[in-house]
Amino acid sequence: MAEETNPPAPVSTGENAAADAAADAAGPSKKAAKKAEAKAKKEALKAQRAAERIAVASTSNEPEEDPAKDFYGPATPALLASFSADAEDVTLRSISESHIGKKVVIRAWLQNTRMQGAKMAFVELREEGNWAIQGIVAATGDAKAEGDSAPVISKRMVKWAGAVNPESFVTVEATVEKPFAPVKSCRVSDFELHITKIFVIAAAPATLGMTMAAANRAVTNFSDEEVKPEEGAQEKEAESGPPAASMLTHLDNIVMHKRSPVQQAIADIRVEVKHLFRDYLREHGFKEFEPPCLIGAASEGGANVFAMPYFNQKAYLAQSPQFYKQFEIAGGRKRVFSIGPVFRAENSNTPRHMTEFTGLDMEMEIRKDYHEVLSMLEGVLLHIFRGIEKHCAAEVELIRSVYPSQELLLPEPGKEVRLTFAEAQKLLREEGPEEFRNVRDDEDMSTPQEKALGALVREKYKTDFFAVDKFPEAARPFYAKVDPASKPNEPVTNAFDMFLRGQEILSGGERIADPDELEARIRFKGVDPTSAGIKEYIGVFRQAGVPPHGGGGIGLDRVVAWYLALPSVHLAAYYPRTPKKLLP
Ligand code: ATP
Repeated sequence: MAEETNPPAPVSTGENAAADAAADAAGPSKKAAKKAEAKAKKEALKAQRAAERIAVASTSNEPEEDPAKDFYGPATPALLASFSADAEDVTLRSISESHIGKKVVIRAWLQNTRMQGAKMAFVELREEGNWAIQGIVAATGDAKAEGDSAPVISKRMVKWAGAVNPESFVTVEATVEKPFAPVKSCRVSDFELHITKIFVIAAAPATLGMTMAAANRAVTNFSDEEVKPEEGAQEKEAESGPPAASMLTHLDNIVMHKRSPVQQAIADIRVEVKHLFRDYLREHGFKEFEPPCLIGAASEGGANVFAMPYFNQKAYLAQSPQFYKQFEIAGGRKRVFSIGPVFRAENSNTPRHMTEFTGLDMEMEIRKDYHEVLSMLEGVLLHIFRGIEKHCAAEVELIRSVYPSQELLLPEPGKEVRLTFAEAQKLLREEGPEEFRNVRDDEDMSTPQEKALGALVREKYKTDFFAVDKFPEAARPFYAKVDPASKPNEPVTNAFDMFLRGQEILSGGERIADPDELEARIRFKGVDPTSAGIKEYIGVFRQAGVPPHGGGGIGLDRVVAWYLALPSVHLAAYYPRTPKKLLP
């Protein structure tokens, strides 16, 4: 075997690769970069020499033919077929007391190796998320007594295992044992693997673009631009453990970004939120449907829409499924929902915005009052929050260890907090920061206002989740129903937003179902009611009688991000799309 005589070149240490990542993340100043580079080179050389010394010392007395030669190396079909017939294929999370002393086969990523002298290598194996276990490859000596069926593990095998590049995908055969003491660094802490065979199925490069240690730290910077660090930043980082990286570095190293347990926990919560949304609405009689992404008219008004040539006309990417939710109600459905992409051509470089996000949308018939819609949306969101608490406690805890956050305060059932827009503004004027003394009831809230309101509500009502109802007419789109009871000179709508930790996560309300009223509002808002798409939209309400209805749109990315108090919504998306970032 090639490995026997030509062991792989020593791998870069985690620290070196981490330093590479720091440089990527920070874009060092010239002086700091040179200094760091020289230091890294010196350390790499030192590590290489040490490895060479161990290699010479450890192999000089060994027989020419490695007796363990078929138990390690790059995987081949023959080697993979050599696993013992009685070894059980297991996943790390399924290992239990019943496996102690038994042979198992695991396929996992090797996340770390550590040599202890020449006779023992510790290897950490990780499956999805943070499911990791400690493995030990310990030399048994080369001579084998006759009739001894125990596998031989040579020092060469130990050395080889200890030099596998981190993040290679491997398969091992091992006996499950109890460690002397729980292995604190691994989630599977009560068991360890005594490895007898180890094969690399897919090798990682010697140097990773971003180490796992860096990938699993809090992202430091969300700008789409490379940011120059302050003088001495690298030295400071070096002192405080593995360096963190910017969002750009994370996205440029998408595989390591996605492999990090913290990102996988965020993704798991995202999946759970979708299930919880779907389950709750299905239980309440809602039917799922798929609105189109390619549409012929901007559904949220003319601005902020991606336009593209479409044969001999223009098409747009849907800014929301608004029209289509309403068409479903007009088309004889009483309650509908959809989960799908929403596109906004906004040059908004904020932690709250992306050019593509996932909308959780619903629409329903109103029997008596649009507060039926508000209650349903409160219900589904509280079901989501409580569901995360119940089903994702381990993920939340893991995420909090990287992105610390305060416990989310939720209202007791029946004690949900609903303020009117005017009440919210009054609260801000009277009890909010000085700069909000003059906020008006007829103007939309700014983001700092929303955050200040969130803090006031938390303080006063002990909840991080609440609704603000009756938004002023000027702050809502043309399909929002104006409250017939509002003052003509201060019109408000039957429309609301919902907030989580002081940030908007939902917009909803009653829609106009009467075609004449709708046409008048569209005209009032400065949109031509005869323009393409709009004419057809109004026409739908003329085709047959449409019941009063309302609904809402929830931003999935924001629900996940603000529930977890992440610094940016970009962390909650699988592949965040921003004005400057379309790849990967
Ligand atoms: P904002 O004022 O924060 O830009 P909006 O009022 O334009 O949001 P809506 O059109 O009401 O938002 O969309 C419904 C929901 O979709 C919002 O409450 C939010 O959760 C989410 N959302 C809206 N725009 C974005 C975006 N650009 N990126 C991520 N989520 C968004």
